[in-house]
Amino acid sequence: MNETKKLYLFANWKMYLGLEASYVLAKNIKEELANLNNGITMAVFPSTLALASVAAELKSTTIKVGAQNVYWVPEGGYTGEVSAEMFAATGAEYALIGHSERRHQCHETNHEVRQKIEAALTAGLTPVICIGETASEREAGSTAEVIETQLRSALGALAWRDGLPLLIAYEPVWAISRGVNKPGGHCSAVEAGKMHAVVEKIARELTGIAPAVLYGGSVRPETIAEYLATPHIAGVLVGAAATKFSSWSEITAAAVEAWR
Ligand code: PEP
Repeated sequence: MNETKKLYLFANWKMYLGLEASYVLAKNIKEELANLNNGITMAVFPSTLALASVAAELKSTTIKVGAQNVYWVPEGGYTGEVSAEMFAATGAEYALIGHSERRHQCHETNHEVRQKIEAALTAGLTPVICIGETASEREAGSTAEVIETQLRSALGALAWRDGLPLLIAYEPVWAISRGVNKPGGHCSAVEAGKMHAVVEKIARELTGIAPAVLYGGSVRPETIAEYLATPHIAGVLVGAAATKFSSWSEITAAAVEAWR
């Protein structure tokens, strides 16, 4: 049993589940997975549409809820946006910020990511700061530079909020939503662990806080144990495999086993 460290099991449901399906998955998780070991934090990140109903369902449990994105202004004429304050008031405790699907599909910039991190902290949400290089950046040999630029923009001269953990998700874009056997799409635990060590060092230099770095990129029930056994990997952010109860419960069971 690991007495001092923490393990994060985070589930990004992306836009896979509507209101009813999100509620059903939350109910299954509540009934079957609510009693996790000390030190394991499970959080689910439903769509904005479903967040309030999922938060209400999980309210009496240890399972946390987070937003997939926030807007940086607390309220006003921003059609289609939802603020960090509004999510916090609905029961969210975390927010994914700068997920690669937002950076690359919605053209979210490092500057916007920074504004969202500040807004989340102001609202009392713990940001989960997502970083990672694309396939072409990796091929060009610029992974370290991209990661450092993202981290400096996100954390440089930032006053962190007392009591909130510093959580960073390293998600190589080329490994997200890929089959583990797809050529070129699998980031091994060894490769991820090496990057996590770099991320930890830069983040600690920038903030003075030791971060927990989660790995994300096609984690599956058959690969979770390997990641969690690797130094510098403090947990996982799982997309597709977290949207079905069967695979999420297998991932959870493997993580609990690895954590003993
Ligand atoms: C993610 O969305 O953060 C993610 C890692 O997705 P997937 O597990 O589907 O690659």
